[in-house]
Amino acid sequence: MPKSQLELLVLYQDIQLMLYDAEEQKKMGFQVEGVEDLKIALSEMEETIQTRYIRTYERLKTRYTRPIAPVSKDVCLGCFATQPTSYKARAWSDKQIFTCENCGRILYWIH
Ligand SMILES: [Zn+2]
Repeated sequence: MPKSQLELLVLYQDIQLMLYDAEEQKKMGFQVEGVEDLKIALSEMEETIQTRYIRTYERLKTRYTRPIAPVSKDVCLGCFATQPTSYKARAWSDKQIFTCENCGRILYWIH
């Protein structure tokens, strides 16, 4: 089943964080495998995610380590601001990517 843009973005963030961890370990002098594989995976994902979402993600990344925040009970877990309930029903469709009105993070609903 093809993944939605939001699911892809969540995975994209995961790989970015793995790459970040790997590079941190490298800086500390550890032998780290797979950095190139992570970079390749990211550039492949950049071809499947719409450019405007990548741009939003990259802009947020200058402010946050995790530009995508989970939402639980209509609350953004990045900043704990309440989100409009109407967002939730539309959130997992391809055309609807919502950002938090308070902190600007990309939102995904965990339930
Ligand atoms: Zn927020």
